[in-house]
Amino acid sequence: MMSVLILETVADVKKFVHNAKAKKLTIGLVPTMGALHDGHITLMKRAKETCDIVIASVFVNPTQFGPNEDFDAYPRTFGEDCAKLTAVGVDAVFHPSVEELYPIGYSTFITVDGGITDKLCGAKRPGHFRGVATVVTKLINITEADKAFFGQKDAQQVVVIKRFVSDLNLNIDIEMVPIVRDNNGLALSSRNKYLSAEEKRSALVLSRSLKAVAELIADGEKQVEVIKARLIEKIKAEPLSDIDYVEIYSFPELKEISLINEPVLIAVAVRFGTTRLIDNIIVGGK
Ligand code: AMP
Repeated sequence: MMSVLILETVADVKKFVHNAKAKKLTIGLVPTMGALHDGHITLMKRAKETCDIVIASVFVNPTQFGPNEDFDAYPRTFGEDCAKLTAVGVDAVFHPSVEELYPIGYSTFITVDGGITDKLCGAKRPGHFRGVATVVTKLINITEADKAFFGQKDAQQVVVIKRFVSDLNLNIDIEMVPIVRDNNGLALSSRNKYLSAEEKRSALVLSRSLKAVAELIADGEKQVEVIKARLIEKIKAEPLSDIDYVEIYSFPELKEISLINEPVLIAVAVRFGTTRLIDNIIVGGK
């Protein structure tokens, strides 16, 4: 099996892309911060199904972390990541240094407004989506990808990315891939590594309670306040949980609603110990 090709500079990626384009091959991009798990691998598989060449990126992007967040502690497991990328058949991995993407003098950032970044993780993590939008724009430009793949796990991120891709007339398709969970329902996340066994058990409350309110909605409950209250009550019943937010918005518009008559995003962010986890469901499907 050919090992995944490791590219560390923008110039090397451009050379690789130039060769692929000369052969008229389509390029799929899967941006990640590494510490790869089966959620990431599902994105890679989806990219392989729909594109000729797949480029993954592994880059812990400093501009999307707040000053008191876990940039330094974020797990970095590049050797293991490469083995997984090789096994799934990804062609190349872009693994730049921070200086490669943000050289001295770097001054340009993408900010997305329009009422989609002032809520959920955007409200709780100021500057986060500015960092995400900036690095994803750079990765799209560097790889000239035809298609990029993102997880529903970060549903607001998908909304933000689709917005700037449309607003800036970028020539790329964005595909959202469903959330991959472990056998107990816990949404896979690189941050699950931070959890103690007890915290991990407690964290199952997230998928359990999201599923319960989905059933409530399927049974005919339409009132957002009632559903939100039920969700909060269920999560609070787990003593180790500390709610950051529990929100329901129309999807993909992220508008406030009081009755569920259209597809909605039900999203939660909850701390277990020092680890902040997010999870969501989209119901009323489109
Ligand atoms: P990250 O490395 O956490 O920045 O994630 C990279 C990409 O993988 C993002 O598009 C995430 O939404 C996606 N992702 C992370 N966890 C999951 C999961 N459990 N299921 C599906 N996609 C995921």
